[in-house]
Amino acid sequence: MLKDILDKAAIDGSISQEEALFLLDKVQTIEALMELAKTASRIRDDALGNVFKFDGFIGPITACKIDPPCKYCGRSAGIRTDFSEEKTLTIDEIELASRLMKDAGIKRVELGGGTLLDGSGQKVIEAVKAVNKVASLNIWINVGPSLSSDDLAQLKGLGAKEVCSSLETINPDVFAKMKPGDSLEARMKLAREINSIGLGLASVMMVGLGSSNEDYVKHLFWLKEFENLSHFCITGLNPLHGSQIQGQNMANSFEVAKVGAVARLVLRTKDISFGGMMNDPRLLPLWIMAGGNRAIHLGAHLHRAKAWGQPHPGALVERFGEVEFVNMLPLTTRFVREMGMEVDII
Ligand code: SF4
Repeated sequence: MLKDILDKAAIDGSISQEEALFLLDKVQTIEALMELAKTASRIRDDALGNVFKFDGFIGPITACKIDPPCKYCGRSAGIRTDFSEEKTLTIDEIELASRLMKDAGIKRVELGGGTLLDGSGQKVIEAVKAVNKVASLNIWINVGPSLSSDDLAQLKGLGAKEVCSSLETINPDVFAKMKPGDSLEARMKLAREINSIGLGLASVMMVGLGSSNEDYVKHLFWLKEFENLSHFCITGLNPLHGSQIQGQNMANSFEVAKVGAVARLVLRTKDISFGGMMNDPRLLPLWIMAGGNRAIHLGAHLHRAKAWGQPHPGALVERFGEVEFVNMLPLTTRFVREMGMEVDII
């Protein structure tokens, strides 16, 4: 049965919800994961070529006022003070970041920030203009449900390529438990608006949050309906020390890889990345095996100094006033090339 589903997915490109659920339920051994990963990698290579993309990250560009903070967030553990109004990046710092990204060979950047439910459109638009002023980069935006349809139209007019609406889970009870200050409906509405305005839709799902395999399947097939879906990121729960969920089980990278590989079978031509507790270059080979083709946080990032903890060995770190530029490309592009893939940087 497993082999039949994988063969059918590889050859005629179809996989039903029942088959996706079967894979999530039954892939429980290394051997079965290897079969699934082989099919996912083949579909990636056939659909997108043997090329891995690395994004740059610039942020936070907006504060987060979700109250209480999401339980898995560094704000909840008291370690992400850079999401306060005073600590968000200035326009000068965003311009500096854009120059550094361009010089490092980065082609696309995420402008990321927290959620302001009463809107952050103007701030985001200014940030996009700052990037455009100094570099020709593909820009995508991830600031939660803080953008109106008018903001989206303006961002599209400025050349932004993608906007993210990350649900993390499609299960309303799990969402309410883990993101009690946030709104699932607002995030679903934003996703619909991004899609209908013709921007690329990016989205995120977190494994280990409490969602079931049925929830993962429902979430994947909900996303599949959006014709402008361009990028899907699968993350894993990392219950931080000092947060309310300290002591809860961390997601198993095996499980995250399995969900990612099934996502590749369902979404096929879309960019698939991994994140959260998977943001570790040591796990990059597992992403590649699972059909991933893009990394958000393993390229280069600019943020408040010390906000992201210790850089990985092999990363280049430069300090500019109150911000830090961390270039992981020397380390991560080597890993990708050593696995036989090309790298999509300048
Ligand atoms: S919306 Fe994002 S930044 Fe804000 S609390 Fe939730 S996870 Fe943290």
